Amino acid sequence: MSLITLSESECKDCYRCVRDCAVKAIKINNGQAEVVKEKCINCGHCIEICPQNAKSVNNHLSKLTKLLEEEKVVASIAPSFPAAFDCSPGQLVKGLKKLGFFAVEETSIGAEVIAREYKELLEGWEKTLISACCPAVVSLVEKHYPELVSYLSPTISPMVAHAKLLKKRFKDLKVVFIGPCIAKIKEIDWKSSKSAVDLAITFDDLKDLFSLKGIDYRSLDEDQFKTNSGNWSRAFPVENGVLKAADIDFGLSTEILSVSGLAECMKTFEDILNGEISPKFIEAMVCAGGCINGPGIKSELSINSRKERVIKYAQQESIEDEFDVNEIKIDISRGYLNRRIEDKIPTENQIRLILSQTGKFSKEDELDCGGCGYNSCREKAIAVYQGLAELKMCIPYMKGKMESLADIIVESSPNAIIVVDKDMTIQKFNSKANELFNRNNEIAIGHKLYRYIDPKDYLDAWFNKKSISQKKIEYKQYNLICEQSVIPLIDYELVIGIITDVTERENHKERVAKMKDTTLEKANQVIHKQMKVAQEIAGLLGESTAETKAILYELRKLMQEEM
Ligand code: SF4
Ligand code: SF4
Repeated sequence: MSLITLSESECKDCYRCVRDCAVKAIKINNGQAEVVKEKCINCGHCIEICPQNAKSVNNHLSKLTKLLEEEKVVASIAPSFPAAFDCSPGQLVKGLKKLGFFAVEETSIGAEVIAREYKELLEGWEKTLISACCPAVVSLVEKHYPELVSYLSPTISPMVAHAKLLKKRFKDLKVVFIGPCIAKIKEIDWKSSKSAVDLAITFDDLKDLFSLKGIDYRSLDEDQFKTNSGNWSRAFPVENGVLKAADIDFGLSTEILSVSGLAECMKTFEDILNGEISPKFIEAMVCAGGCINGPGIKSELSINSRKERVIKYAQQESIEDEFDVNEIKIDISRGYLNRRIEDKIPTENQIRLILSQTGKFSKEDELDCGGCGYNSCREKAIAVYQGLAELKMCIPYMKGKMESLADIIVESSPNAIIVVDKDMTIQKFNSKANELFNRNNEIAIGHKLYRYIDPKDYLDAWFNKKSISQKKIEYKQYNLICEQSVIPLIDYELVIGIITDVTERENHKERVAKMKDTTLEKANQVIHKQMKVAQEIAGLLGESTAETKAILYELRKLMQEEM
């Protein structure tokens, strides 16, 4: 399962994540972004940059709450914590204990072990040694630069080393890592970490838990870490921090590099593969500036302020350790795999075919606008072939298609549609408008509206900023009776008129009305005649004339109503 989940209703197919994911691990399926777990390195960048906040990481707070209720749990807190929490280390420890943690230690205890190992490894290492503390770097190499897996330090990360140390020192203990990193949440399931770390959450998760439990950690008194770590191992989360902790001289050197940020890591690995550089050691971190800029820290502070906090804390005097990490033996080795999935490569003909499906028949048609999230139309066509992208992601093509669709609808309308600008110059004059009002069959676009019809309603609609709805109007010069709706589009400085020819209907109505009048007149004559006869008969029968008259008037009324 992918670590990152997406809320479909929030994803508005803006392709921002497609554009910004350097390893192209985002696939678009039915207009919705999906993380391709086989390619994703869990750097978390797509979560941070999504303008709709459509992506999130499954958090484990309910698991943590259960664990705290049922087990003895130690928190291993990543050394970047001073960059994330506005409180003293002692207050943070107190807050964690209030949540139910049995003890709190710094992950940098594990960093001490790993830093020492880097220093030793470097002595006899023949090729470039790449630090393996950052799980996103490990995934980047395994999934995208597997030629370099043998360059990765064959050592576990400080997080796993610390958890192993804890479990060696204390029996029946659960370890929860709390840090700035979402890749660590995945790392705890790796074979090399199995049964060391029981749960990993981010600093932001922890802040949420504090507020959920109503704990204001900033107002608490101080408590202490169970054991303190060495000073410079606390500098692991900043650039050059690993080098400093491992006591590796990183002065002005081309042999010892500190690389942070995904793009920089990728360029450096490519340079190694191309033989451009051959450093002895690379301290590599996927987050620009190091873990202090991890996706699990929401902070307004600049990278430099965060760095300053971490370094100031690292410089603080350490309390005497109650145990020596060197005396506890743990297995810190690990291996790596080539986890690259080979993408299907299309032939030139297949690429051309896909390009042609979005109206790109020649090089000039390829705009390379980047709207789809790919750098070029060709790159996007390859992604379509590989099932990562969809044809309809081409915005210029879809726009053109929508425009021509709109044109088809307007042209095939049974109503005359006339669009003018605010100066009453015709912008659109559809076929029905030509049929009704353009007897000379000239090109109406560009001419003034009065050349064809009275522009009064258009002017009224524009100046009053109000639509006119289904107004009956007679165009005598064309022998037409029409119903006219006029809509001003203020933002576009246009006025649209939709005119329905109702001449036939109105003429029919007039004919029927005339027929009614004639019939009524005829009926009146008949009644009149009948009345006379009836009066005569009534006279003969002795009934009153008034009574007969009333009956006959009633009869006429009924007949009128009928008609
Ligand atoms: S987490 Fe990173 S690698 Fe994975 S999809 Fe998002 S941006 Fe790409
Ligand atoms: S640099 Fe640090 S926070 Fe960022 S992905 Fe790597 S380990 Fe995680």
